[in-house]
Amino acid sequence: MKFGTKVIHAGIEPDPETGAVMTPIYQTSTYAQEAPGKHKGYEYARTQNPTRKALQDNLAALENGNFGVCFSSGLAAMDTVLKLFNPGDEVIATNDLYGGSYRQLTKVHERYGIKSHFVDMRAPENVVKKINKHTRLLWIETPTNPMLNIVDISAMCALAKAHGILTCVDNTFASPYLQTPLDLGADLVLHSATKYLGGHSDVVHGAVVVKDEALAQQLYFLQNAVGAVPGPQDCFLVLRGIKTLHLRVERACKNARKIAKFLDSHPKVSKVYYPGLKSHPQHELAGRQMRAYGAMVSFDLQKDNFEDAIKVLSGTRLFTLAESLGGVESLIGHPATMTHASIPREERLKVGLTDSLIRLSVGVEDVEDLIEDLEQAFVHL
Ligand SMILES: *Cc1c(COP(=O)(O)O)cnc(C)c1O
Repeated sequence: MKFGTKVIHAGIEPDPETGAVMTPIYQTSTYAQEAPGKHKGYEYARTQNPTRKALQDNLAALENGNFGVCFSSGLAAMDTVLKLFNPGDEVIATNDLYGGSYRQLTKVHERYGIKSHFVDMRAPENVVKKINKHTRLLWIETPTNPMLNIVDISAMCALAKAHGILTCVDNTFASPYLQTPLDLGADLVLHSATKYLGGHSDVVHGAVVVKDEALAQQLYFLQNAVGAVPGPQDCFLVLRGIKTLHLRVERACKNARKIAKFLDSHPKVSKVYYPGLKSHPQHELAGRQMRAYGAMVSFDLQKDNFEDAIKVLSGTRLFTLAESLGGVESLIGHPATMTHASIPREERLKVGLTDSLIRLSVGVEDVEDLIEDLEQAFVHL
């Protein structure tokens, strides 16, 4: 089955009871048993829910995996993945990653004895330097947030395998339409389904997909034992969002490419970070690893000027100033004070995340209107 068919059909059957074409929202906490222990595969809704099962099966298909595991948020999914490990174990993570992921690794799991190292994964030797006998996991985010660097997933996974280390790729920015890390050797792929999968900024949700059955069983155990599960209504919204994933992402990528070119030639802009530009240092790698270059664009203004950045951020009318990404509507954000405020300033500056860096999540509107909106926001600089 090809991608555009999978989003609509994989894991989804008409309801056996009524024939309902859309997966029903099974809003129940428990299920009647015929006799003690004799049931239809559903006992209690933390453990199993049919709406959630349809979504888990659909996500497994989209990522070319075998098992999907859903959670109440992307960070809940991450927390559960890290509960696969023990005190004394170590993680090597991409240095330029989602602020909440950095916060969870440093402020939560570190307290439980799991140490994290943050390295620039564009150069494999940076990872090799941190590998020791305690290393259990490579945490890879690509494209990175907000600098839009590309990590070579195949190279990282090969390196990890040679050392007996698991790999988890946070695929939130690309979505499975653009990139399928399990095909490139990853053991786990994680999503904040809040973003492109949900796609309409109306739900918070997370998921993990794996190929290996033993790993899946550990995750299902933790899903039930820890209990950070999504409600059926949220699973329904993500299922509904996924049906148009390919259409939305394709349009958003086209828009983003035009916007990146517009910004690249704008006199008030000093630098544009977008893997689709030929000038991007990993343009070629992005082309190999991804189906298109994504719909996230970051840019910096002349002279690292914080005041000018604030003017642009508060001057757009169509681009809404808000955290998050991946919805149909375009958003504009200021990583230094918003999504990445939990990362210390000196750490931010090391990766190029200045106080004037602006991040766009390009939506599916008409691109002429989006460009006009940015143009008028630049007028007062
Ligand atoms: C939003 C996001 C997360 C966290 O997901 P939530 O659903 O907000 O908990 C993790 N990784 C990336 C790349 C994200 O953008």
